[in-house]
Amino acid sequence: MGTVILGGGIIGLATAYYLSLAKPPTEFEPLHIVDSSPTLLTSASGLAGGFLASNWFSPAVSSLGALSFRLHRELAENHNGPHRWGYAPSHVYSLSVDERGVSRAGKKEKADAWLQEGTSRAQLVQTEGKGVMLNDDGTPAVFTPQEGGTLETIASPDECAQIEPKELCEFLLEECKKYGVKVHLSTKAEGVETDNNGALKGLKLKSSDNNDHFLECDKVVVSAGAWTPRVFKSLFPKSATRIPVSPLAGYSLAVKSPRYTTPFVDAEKRQIGGGEDNWLCYAIYCAPGRHFAYAPEAYARLARNGETEIWVGGINDSTLPLPELAVSVKDMIDPESINDLRKTIVQLTGLAKEGDDLHHDDLELVREGLCFRPVTHKGTPLIGKVPEKNLGSIKVGNGGVWIASGHGPWGISLSLGTGLVVSEMLLGKKPSADVRALGII
Ligand SMILES: Cc1cc2nc3c(=O)[nH]c(=O)nc-3n(C[C@H](O)[C@H](O)[C@H](O)COP(=O)(O)OP(=O)(O)OC[C@H]3O[C@@H](n4cnc5c(N)ncnc54)[C@H](O)[C@@H]3O)c2cc1C
Repeated sequence: MGTVILGGGIIGLATAYYLSLAKPPTEFEPLHIVDSSPTLLTSASGLAGGFLASNWFSPAVSSLGALSFRLHRELAENHNGPHRWGYAPSHVYSLSVDERGVSRAGKKEKADAWLQEGTSRAQLVQTEGKGVMLNDDGTPAVFTPQEGGTLETIASPDECAQIEPKELCEFLLEECKKYGVKVHLSTKAEGVETDNNGALKGLKLKSSDNNDHFLECDKVVVSAGAWTPRVFKSLFPKSATRIPVSPLAGYSLAVKSPRYTTPFVDAEKRQIGGGEDNWLCYAIYCAPGRHFAYAPEAYARLARNGETEIWVGGINDSTLPLPELAVSVKDMIDPESINDLRKTIVQLTGLAKEGDDLHHDDLELVREGLCFRPVTHKGTPLIGKVPEKNLGSIKVGNGGVWIASGHGPWGISLSLGTGLVVSEMLLGKKPSADVRALGII
């Protein structure tokens, strides 16, 4: 009997990848990924920041967080992650901007640590041979000094990293296809079929051209991000169980900057690869300030083939309704929110000029986006097998139904650990991380 994964975002892809590694699909035990969108990665997994942390999680998630961080590093080491999906350890800063700036008595000395006066702001240090640009105080020149701002280091490259998440997903998808995983796009599961004993024997599917299909399977993973409750309901309409995942929309922008052309290379902090691949990148978390009413986060990160880009996010909207298809989200983009993000990224990374408080826009747009995070009230993901009694009248025999969703702001970081753990559950093995507190019921 086969296995069907519903949802081809990073969680579904990581699950399919680790399952294929452990037990490559065969004609008799096929593995399918079914996604309702005509193209993959138009949702959160394709547009997110790619910030990875080893230990920023609540106790319920800490074991999974540590496993996932290790898996990200190992995957990058084994498959040239720096070049293929921009894996790089990351410096992490926190920026707070004093509303009153340096003119306030008593604050000048502290503020001077980050504030650069006029011309010196534009003076960039070129480190020998590497093309890495630094401000006069040694902070990365990708972040423009802020008047009255204080930049503090809050985490090191030993405990944080970054990736370009869409590129990691593309790698996972490519590997899955090599193993023979079958991918069905523009297709939705409309219900389950059972045998004479009422046990799950497959899924009824409908494609966007209105064709009906049947996929034989006894194992189903629902990993449809913010759509997970809808998918579960369409499969098990008689179940009284509600999957407590809701959508939280978030805007993002990615740009290129003339001050971020080469990621930092620090010989002391080399972690993976060799030579020029020992890149480090930067994350900056900001408190709301006079230039932005919300708390932006900006990631100066690598992309494929050593390209560099800066991603910014932080504007969310909990009132936006989840569309039927992930691909339709682009029609819902509010230009004002994108403009606000543009102002923020210019303020954080634009060109500083003498005497200017507001920085100048010399950034090239790479992409803008809106997508939905799958969030839970508890703030922790849902990972586990759904008890048979919660499937309405459907029995599962030796198979079952698993949920892997609700990763909120941490789905990229937790993706590989989730994929491994869910694959182990499907194979009846002991999970490599303790996820008992993340069960469905
Ligand atoms: C602005 C923003 C920034 C973020 N930054 C970070 C970060 O820096 N680090 C981090 O760790 N996390 C980050 N996240 C969170 C992360 O992006 C998500 O947690 C993660 O991508 C969720 O992955 P997923 O596979 O569960 O869902 P998704 O990526 O949303 O994928 C769900 C898939 O299900 C499919 N689907 C929908 N309906 C159906 C159906 N009926 N049948 C089959 N398939 C269906 C969709 O088409 C889609 O392909 C960020 C999120 C946002 C919004």
